[in-house]
Amino acid sequence: MLSKKNLNNDDIVLTGQYIGVVEEFLPDKQSTFTKDGKIFASKTGLININDQERKLEIRTHQEQDRKTVKIGDIVIGTIVFLRKYSVGINFFTINKKIHFNSGYFGNIHVSQISDKYVEKINDAFQITDILRARVSEQEYNEYKLSTIGKNLGVIYADCVICGDPLIKIGYNKLKCMRCGNIETRRLANDYGNVNNTLRF
Ligand SMILES: [Zn+2]
Repeated sequence: MLSKKNLNNDDIVLTGQYIGVVEEFLPDKQSTFTKDGKIFASKTGLININDQERKLEIRTHQEQDRKTVKIGDIVIGTIVFLRKYSVGINFFTINKKIHFNSGYFGNIHVSQISDKYVEKINDAFQITDILRARVSEQEYNEYKLSTIGKNLGVIYADCVICGDPLIKIGYNKLKCMRCGNIETRRLANDYGNVNNTLRF
């Protein structure tokens, strides 16, 4: 069970998740419900604890923010498939805000990965990689994305062999400390240093 020491501001909680007890927190009626002295989330979002007043609420961004994606927006998403000349990405995070109830789909063409020539798409990306990209075009419900730019590219990746997180050992180079596997990726300059809550 969670207790207050396990909960930090901006942690993600899911609808129905146990958060704490009424002795610890003053729950917000809009975003939580209480039962037998226990507090549960009544919606999915980011937890916000006011330490002085012990006030607790769950905040979502999509209520007050636009739901559309614009050209130039920076998004974070997960690679869901690789094709010969493109990769498909699901993304929820737009300009650092998580949109829980609306997923978007985008793809990156091989020519839009880097300003350097990329021969094979799997030298740059693998399925389940998390990356940051810029929206360059929209076609109906599909967005064309680009990772050309220093702060764009993969921000988190797991070893394709054993699944352990990969450690950066050089330019676009990663190593698995568990099995020794070495892989390449198109890396963002802050690879490995990205807040957990933004990895959506
Ligand atoms: Zn490994």
